[in-house]
Amino acid sequence: MSSENKKHWYPAYVGLGSNLHDPAHQVETAFELLGEIRATHLISRSSLYGSAPFGGVQQPDFINAVASLLTQLSAQELLRELQRIEGERGRERGEVRWGPRVLDLDLLVYSNQKIDEPELCVPHPGIGERNFVLLPLGEIAPELDIPGLGRIASLDADSIEPKISRIG
Ligand code: ATP
Ligand code: CA
Ligand code: CA
Repeated sequence: MSSENKKHWYPAYVGLGSNLHDPAHQVETAFELLGEIRATHLISRSSLYGSAPFGGVQQPDFINAVASLLTQLSAQELLRELQRIEGERGRERGEVRWGPRVLDLDLLVYSNQKIDEPELCVPHPGIGERNFVLLPLGEIAPELDIPGLGRIASLDADSIEPKISRIG
């Protein structure tokens, strides 16, 4: 057996978002590209959710979803793959934070790890305040226990603004 085969498989959850250039198509394409990351399997994907923009910038509504992966990559390696995919889909670095974007891929949770580095914070600090993350994550992983936050089902996603809708 090669050393690659002996590596551990880690569960990871990725948040997908888009509000430009046919957002539903962008998210569908992103699911496919997540499934093609090296040493990584796409395990499940949530429905698509529609949400009003966040952070006060005037822009089109977002489509959001969550994917669950199993990966042999480290969290840092996986983040680099997510950023590669964002770039390939036309995401430009240096744009307004929380502004319009063709594709945003956030590493929400990586195994039971807590990472607090300038370039990578896991679990993603926005999870508990964002129903466009909590609802799709709860759909595909209701038993997930997020380090520092608790079980996903114990977090009251419906009480958080903005309201979002499941669109398919
Ligand atoms: P937010 O992170 O609040 O959702 P955003 O997605 O708009 O905001 P970006 O502009 O996509 O933010 O990313 C800014 C930086 O966040 C990236 O350069 C990346 O290094 C860093 N980052 C830290 N933790 C994470 C994470 N868990 N997933 C993705 N990027 C992260
Ligand atoms: Ca984000
Ligand atoms: Ca991001």
